Amino acid sequence: MSAQRREEYALRIDPVACDAFGFCAEMFPERITLDEWGYPMVDPEPVSGQLVALARKAVSECPRRAIVLERKPRPV
Ligand code: SF4
Repeated sequence: MSAQRREEYALRIDPVACDAFGFCAEMFPERITLDEWGYPMVDPEPVSGQLVALARKAVSECPRRAIVLERKPRPV
């Protein structure tokens, strides 16, 4: 029986594109909070499991397309 592997993703914000609307922190508070100026701060913990769907929604709803969700390479 093989061990089940979980896909892990890293969340990244493009600070140049971001306009500090703050929607991402409302949609994905598990990993994104806002600083005192309303710019997002991303928790460096990988995104996996049920959180991936929430992360994808935050990516798709960002009005500036400033959020990137990248699959983390698996260790070999
Ligand atoms: S939703 Fe997009 S533009 Fe708004 S704060 Fe988040 S990353 Fe920036």
